[in-house]
Amino acid sequence: MQLPPDARFDTICIHAGQAPDPSTGAIITPIYQTSTYVQDGLGRHKGHEYARTSNPTRAALEGNLAALEGGSAGYAFASGMAAIDAILSLLEQGDHVIVTDNTYGGTYRLFERVLRRYGLRFTYVDTSDSSAVAAAIEPATKMVFLETPTNPVMRLTDIAAVAAITRPRGVTLVVDNTFASPCLQRPLTLGADIVVHSTTKYLNGHSDSVGGIVVCTRPEHVEWMKFVQNAAGAIMGPFDAWLVLRGTKTLAVRMERHNTNGLAVARFLAAHPKVRAVHYPGLEQHPQHALAERQMRGFGGMLAFDVDTLERAKVVLERFRVFALAESLGGVESLVCHPASMTHASVPIERRVQIGLTESMVRLSVGIEDVNDLVADVAHALDGLS
Ligand SMILES: *Cc1c(COP(=O)(O)O)cnc(C)c1O
Repeated sequence: MQLPPDARFDTICIHAGQAPDPSTGAIITPIYQTSTYVQDGLGRHKGHEYARTSNPTRAALEGNLAALEGGSAGYAFASGMAAIDAILSLLEQGDHVIVTDNTYGGTYRLFERVLRRYGLRFTYVDTSDSSAVAAAIEPATKMVFLETPTNPVMRLTDIAAVAAITRPRGVTLVVDNTFASPCLQRPLTLGADIVVHSTTKYLNGHSDSVGGIVVCTRPEHVEWMKFVQNAAGAIMGPFDAWLVLRGTKTLAVRMERHNTNGLAVARFLAAHPKVRAVHYPGLEQHPQHALAERQMRGFGGMLAFDVDTLERAKVVLERFRVFALAESLGGVESLVCHPASMTHASVPIERRVQIGLTESMVRLSVGIEDVNDLVADVAHALDGLS
């Protein structure tokens, strides 16, 4: 079975990377829970020798996600962080990387606490200003690592504008596309070279697996990622690959609902007298709303809002009945968290101030429940404020 070359995104979600199982015709790729493969004879095998190197369930997911991002190959890892770590192994001692200043806390920790020890250097800039990216480039700069939109203040970077800076200089442009998903944003079509995701979030979408994916376009990147996935071995297991493959089948319909629910909750918050600021790229008052409209297809389910003081944030956080108090995001169920003490607790206070992350900020991952129940839950939580 071969998808027509002009198949559209929602069709690709369901079919790409997967053919009926050759031995039984099973429409769903089985979980190939095996460590090795029996060979027909010396040097004669069916394309698989050892499961760190390749696994048919993982290969199906890698083909699926490469197609969704419009890349030439995908490599699945045990977590989003393992995927990011594998990408950074493209670099050598002395190389310099420019990074979005409010990148995911785990990315900052990996870069500063681990990779700096191996002689890589990182400069954190506000990449929403593409001239700041150009200004930070040094002769040793080999990579620009973007995250857009960022967590939790939903700041955007113009991917095409940064690609116009990196391309002519031969600098590799990497985009962490976890918050948007390929349904809302396709960085490779905007000039990026590599896309990375924590599949833990929207791609799997059901809060029951941890994983990561790297999608690349350039032959030298494809070759290295394939090599390092096997050499370092931080592979995604077959059961997780199967879960994410099941998740991406409904990605398009889930994202549609995340978009409508996210926008409805953001609008409700923006009109609420007890809410000071709402950060959601789908609101007209978002400073980069025009860029969001140009660069994204829908604005997703992530937003943050401010209720003035830490005390008031605590009151609100504990009154939710549908939104569950938890870290993580991108699942079908709605979650609420307090970034300053939860997801961003390891980020030094000066950096939090710099990226606009206040102690009175509440973050929502708006799920796909009935929108009326979600808006009512937010209203109930805010009713606790005097
Ligand atoms: C969660 C997350 C990661 C890390 O992924 P894990 O699967 O938790 O290792 C990286 N980037 C972003 C934007 C994330 O939200």
